[in-house]
Amino acid sequence: MRIVLVGPPGAGKGTQAAFLAKNLSIPHISTGDLFRANISQQTELGKLAKSYMDAGNLVPDEVTIGMAKDRMEQPDAENGFLLDGFPRNVSQAEALDEMLKTEGMKLDGVLDLEVPEDEVVKRIAGRRICRKDSSHVFHVTYSKPKTDGVCDVCGGELYQREDDSEDTVRKRLEVYHTQTEPIIDYYKAQGLVVTISALGKVDEVTKRAMAALQGDA
Ligand SMILES: [Zn+2]
Repeated sequence: MRIVLVGPPGAGKGTQAAFLAKNLSIPHISTGDLFRANISQQTELGKLAKSYMDAGNLVPDEVTIGMAKDRMEQPDAENGFLLDGFPRNVSQAEALDEMLKTEGMKLDGVLDLEVPEDEVVKRIAGRRICRKDSSHVFHVTYSKPKTDGVCDVCGGELYQREDDSEDTVRKRLEVYHTQTEPIIDYYKAQGLVVTISALGKVDEVTKRAMAALQGDA
């Protein structure tokens, strides 16, 4: 199965991608991992990406596409993959189609995780991270620490990352609406999109997603 996962920041895409990939026995290919792997292995594309990032510039689509192509050609991706974070705009989606067509392949489905905008803001802006260990994560509504502002695990101070502020979240959503959302229409035209609600418990969303993908495949 070749699947693309789409959804706004805060939809729990990474978590769902990991569970779905495991259930479907296909690799989870995330843009974040691609960048980290290429940069740490100092591949040509990794060096190129790093030069843009170090200069504070966006990495051009060709570089991201190149990394995705290399990854999709690995033996473990022969029977499918789940893409997370790629494509993130229509031009990347077109490049992906071209790439697959050359190999005589096509996508089987595009899973669209839907979350109301206010819920996204609530989820992200409510996050509180421990200053001593960033893996200690709390939420002012969903996962309250016993004492406000104090980490239950180690007693460290909890704070809100700048990336998680409401202003930043609204800006990230704006980028999602203008850049990424158009790929949903692009794929709808190919009859590939299944939309599910990303509200509720993680395992409930996974179940919903599996049913939607299998019903559609
Ligand atoms: Zn802590």
